[in-house]
Amino acid sequence: MAWYSFQHRGDNFGRYGTVDAGGESTNPSETVGSGDHYVTPETAAAIYGLVSSLNNDGLSIDLGDMSSSNGSDPWQAGFAHHSGHGHNGNRSGIDVDFRYLNNNGESFQSGNAFNSPSFSQNNNQTVYDTADRFGFTVNYQGTSGNLTGPTQISNHNDHGHLGRANNNSNITNLQRPIKSIVHRPGYMRF
Ligand SMILES: [Zn+2]
Repeated sequence: MAWYSFQHRGDNFGRYGTVDAGGESTNPSETVGSGDHYVTPETAAAIYGLVSSLNNDGLSIDLGDMSSSNGSDPWQAGFAHHSGHGHNGNRSGIDVDFRYLNNNGESFQSGNAFNSPSFSQNNNQTVYDTADRFGFTVNYQGTSGNLTGPTQISNHNDHGHLGRANNNSNITNLQRPIKSIVHRPGYMRF
């Protein structure tokens, strides 16, 4: 697998969090690559489509952990492993975290974003709805959230999680985008 190194910043997106060094994890035993912005080429295309579409809606987004340079979860000594991002070869290069959006249409940092007056229900719903159109169908929100679509899960009140199905045929077969064009006339706005 050739991992695609996703750029850390662009016109309408940025990044947050530590760029993990990787290394030899002993408990559990795992050789971890460096960095945190590696995805499959298909996932990279999906993320670019997502951020471009969000930009057309006047929104910008900060992205966090994807996978490390060898497809494992991003990690360095002193940190916990990040299941759902390639840990032990499970879900490598098909997931991305993001910081929730505020009323200005920008990602913001908060320990519990849902309880912040800055939190925008509409803008974050747009993120999940748009992500779904680009093949992110395994999505999570924090336990304080009540957005439509993403599953509630612990440890996600400060960031959201977008994941593609393990079967990547939704992108390589172009099934979802083609269906989206047919059923959603506004889809090609980006
Ligand atoms: Zn995540």
